[in-house]
Amino acid sequence: MIRGLFREVTRTFQGSTVRSSPLVYSNFMQTTTGVFYFGGGSVGLVVALMMADGPGSRVAVVALSTFAITAGLIMVRWGPRMPRIVGRVMLGLGPFVIATAIVAATDSFGAIALSVLYVLVATDAALFCPPVEASLYIAVSIVCSLVSVASRADLAWWVGVPSASATLLIGISTLVLAGWAGNAEIDGLTGLLNRRGFDRALRNAISAADPDGIPPAVVFFDIDHFKRLNDINGHSYGDEVLVHVARTWSSLIPPSARLGRYGGDEFALLLVGMREAAVVSCAETLRDSVNVRCSAGATSWNPGESSSLMTGRADVALYRAKNSGRNRITLESGHRTPIAAEFQATMSSGMKLAYQPIVRLDQPDNPIVAVEALIRWESALKPDLTPMELIEIAEASGLIVDLDSLVLRRACEEAHELQAAFGTEPLQLHVNVSGLTLIDPRYLDTVSRVLMETGWPATQLIIEVTETVVDADNSAALNCLDKLREGGIRIAIDDFGTGYSSLSRLQSLPADEIKLDGAFVAASSTHGASLLGAVAVLGHGLHMPTIAERVETADEARLLTDLGYPMAQGFFFGKPVSCEELVRRFRDDLSSAVARSVPRPAAFPRQ
Ligand code: C2E
Ligand code: MG
Ligand code: MG
Repeated sequence: MIRGLFREVTRTFQGSTVRSSPLVYSNFMQTTTGVFYFGGGSVGLVVALMMADGPGSRVAVVALSTFAITAGLIMVRWGPRMPRIVGRVMLGLGPFVIATAIVAATDSFGAIALSVLYVLVATDAALFCPPVEASLYIAVSIVCSLVSVASRADLAWWVGVPSASATLLIGISTLVLAGWAGNAEIDGLTGLLNRRGFDRALRNAISAADPDGIPPAVVFFDIDHFKRLNDINGHSYGDEVLVHVARTWSSLIPPSARLGRYGGDEFALLLVGMREAAVVSCAETLRDSVNVRCSAGATSWNPGESSSLMTGRADVALYRAKNSGRNRITLESGHRTPIAAEFQATMSSGMKLAYQPIVRLDQPDNPIVAVEALIRWESALKPDLTPMELIEIAEASGLIVDLDSLVLRRACEEAHELQAAFGTEPLQLHVNVSGLTLIDPRYLDTVSRVLMETGWPATQLIIEVTETVVDADNSAALNCLDKLREGGIRIAIDDFGTGYSSLSRLQSLPADEIKLDGAFVAASSTHGASLLGAVAVLGHGLHMPTIAERVETADEARLLTDLGYPMAQGFFFGKPVSCEELVRRFRDDLSSAVARSVPRPAAFPRQ
């Protein structure tokens, strides 16, 4: 029997990195340590009251017991919310508190009774600490037990041996039993958590999560074409790949993260205290670190939801990554504020588009040549929500790709009506796109499908992106813009001047037009026109048509015309209006233009 126990102990320590108690990462430790402190303190108090008078200090034993009871109550009540280190500190303090009480005991029976409390320390450590760390606590307990008993003049040194032996035996047995329990949650091949272990770790993380703090996140990884890899090279090669991935990733993940093998070639990563952007970049680092390609899907916890709902969403994200060409990561954001949920539910039925004209300044009567489609959606929860706020919510809640795709489809459909009323000249359609949409692997397909299904010509579509999107580091976005341009679509840099593009970068921007931010036009009345003039010269020099935004007055329009701006947009030329209203105006303009025998529509009626 002793040999059997010895064998199990050896196995427990050999696999110390993986064969540890399933409770090692649980947040029960703080509570259990609190209960043990409370129990130990209560025993100490009873012993203190029953001890016969003698050398030593009854007051010291009572004080130590009271401290243990108080600390225990605090740990039980608030421990789970405290950092884990608090539990470790309390555990490490235990042997010394008990030793002091033993030394201070006023009679020998009290001292022996107190030495039994070391069993609590050993059990706590064996349940909640990895094997090596637990052994350290057990060893410290044994030494403290032997030394404190031996230091008493009324006791022979060997009197401490029975309680020290009990501490050793119970500590090691608990360690082995906890290790067995842990094995049921460990994957035999990689030594990572298996699906059961990972699910439990996730449930623990969710129960410990602060609904107002940073939520836990999960990333599912799937090795691309693993079956083919297995079929061609054999199963042992496949196993080597899995072990290589598990080892590499285990060495790279943060200490608080948990990695599991969720299925055949599927890995799962649990991250705490990281925002979604950091989660995605961590997953990208892991993907880059191994010599096989893999797809990944990430999500974060939405307060109130179950772990299975969360893993279901991570599955959807992984599915999307695989479906859109593999070897990439997609994020299904967990953030759904009430407004985001309201928007998601009514996006398709409640969304409308407004169109704002863009006019030529370098032609008489400032004819309209283009329209910009702008989203309009009314929230019952927040009636004063602006389109800009809506875009931010959609970006934060993972709805922006759907929003931009829906806007593109709706705009391309309605643009036919606008074109029919506009006349024979081709009307250019501007559509805004978020940077997040641009890096979505589905976006290029969406654009070509929408153009094909609606029949709107690519050459009459201008995609507006903001300056930050065309950042030199954002290769996915730049790649997407290149592909769009190859398809005949033009790109406009929206709100130009508000980002951080250096002037030298302007030359290499994958763009066909610049839309100068309205702030420059507004500032011209107070700070003069020098900046406006400089940008106009720059646009000319780079052969990039420049549209001045937010033109509100006749003076501004005149100034921009004088400075040589070819195009402008703003309330002065027309506010954003519904498709029907714009169609009506186009028809009115067209009929009055025909009446005046002018071959193109007249300027947009000023408001
Ligand atoms: P933007 O693309 O720069 O659009 C121009 C914004 O300026 C519009 O605001 C328009 O109503 C406003 N505007 C135009 N002329 C004037 C003017 O003379 N004075 C003033 N004060 N404002 C003027 P809106 O519609 O509130 O849109 C705000 C922003 O929301 C847009 O700025 C665009 O960045 C974003 N957005 C709108 N629709 C979409 C969309 O479908 N997708 C995406 N990703 N973003 C969109
Ligand atoms: Mg725009
Ligand atoms: Mg703009």
